Amino acid sequence: MEQIPLAQPDISSLERSYVARVLQTPQLSLGPKVPEFERAVAVATGAKHVVAVNSGTSALHLIVRSLGLGEGDEVITSPFSFIASSNCLLFERVKPVFVDVDPRTGNIDPARIEAAITPRTKALLVVDVFGHPADYDAITPIAAKHNLAIIEDSCEALGARYNGKAAGTMGVAGCFAFYPNKQITTGEGGVVVTESDTIADLCRSMRNQGRATNGNAWLAHVRLGYNYRLSDIHAALGLAQMERLEKLLAARAKVAAGYAKRLSGLAASHGVELPAALPDVTISWFVYVIRLRLGTTYEQRDRVMALLREKGVCCNNYFSPIHLQPFYRELLGHKEGDFPVTESLGARGIALPFFNKLTAVQIGQVAEALVSSISAVGC
Ligand SMILES: *Cc1c(COP(=O)(O)O)cnc(C)c1O
Repeated sequence: MEQIPLAQPDISSLERSYVARVLQTPQLSLGPKVPEFERAVAVATGAKHVVAVNSGTSALHLIVRSLGLGEGDEVITSPFSFIASSNCLLFERVKPVFVDVDPRTGNIDPARIEAAITPRTKALLVVDVFGHPADYDAITPIAAKHNLAIIEDSCEALGARYNGKAAGTMGVAGCFAFYPNKQITTGEGGVVVTESDTIADLCRSMRNQGRATNGNAWLAHVRLGYNYRLSDIHAALGLAQMERLEKLLAARAKVAAGYAKRLSGLAASHGVELPAALPDVTISWFVYVIRLRLGTTYEQRDRVMALLREKGVCCNNYFSPIHLQPFYRELLGHKEGDFPVTESLGARGIALPFFNKLTAVQIGQVAEALVSSISAVGC
């Protein structure tokens, strides 16, 4: 039986021709494609500045550094995320202080933030999980009251909107990522988006070995920097993807709608929870993660996933809570039970195959496999 993959990039002849054109020039890096790509992201998001880098993780790291966060500082964030949103703090010896999440969205629960604030808290690092923006109407006043910067990890949310405003632009700085399973891809890549001239300038300098951004003295380094540059080859790929963004997002939304329709019966009969947008939110569909009935254990979920894989349906457990990762347990002393909502979502979630070209027939196959696997496990 043919396997249905979990994710798959949507690459057309446009992408291939843009990349091929760069390869016909000598400018494979530091050429014109990077600023062109940055402008395309700026137009799509309304952000004043866009700084392209070689990964979403690099973008997060540069934001943390450009805010001057360091040892002794704390940043409040979510344990229900991809590990990079927390690792970027550890890079700078900043302590991640986890706060549990809203069971509907998996985003940080605003009602729990204030209890975690200490005199050392400097920022809130908010993740727009699975392309659903967090609750900024509740988060922003808390940040303002306590004079905390909001960093938005919108690596999974390019194209999402909150009250009409683009995800990524809700705080002092945000970021997107372009690994091949994201809404658009550059192979590897990411961007910082910000309204702040200072943050943008620092990020431009730090991505390029700490060079000054106004001079052209190639060997003048004004601060500690990195090589986090995105090449023109990658940027050209991203540029073609950005030109097709609306189509790509619409195709993803259509697949999500197909799943919602096909799985509504299972939701009713087996208590399976389907992803859905809260009011005032436009999801940008990154993955399609369903949750098995409340009370389902890790073991039961893993057996369902094993059966799905036997039937040729690729799937994954999004997310395995960050606070329970071995080195986080060791570093921060976390244990099971510390963040019960995160752990419940982590125990019950299954990411189903999700990509633009998933057909209605394949959606039907996934749905049937899911029904029979859940019945076999009895959860
Ligand atoms: C993908 C992702 C990142 C990091 O992106 P990379 O490009 O893989 O470094 C960061 N945070 C979240 C929430 C992500 O999903």
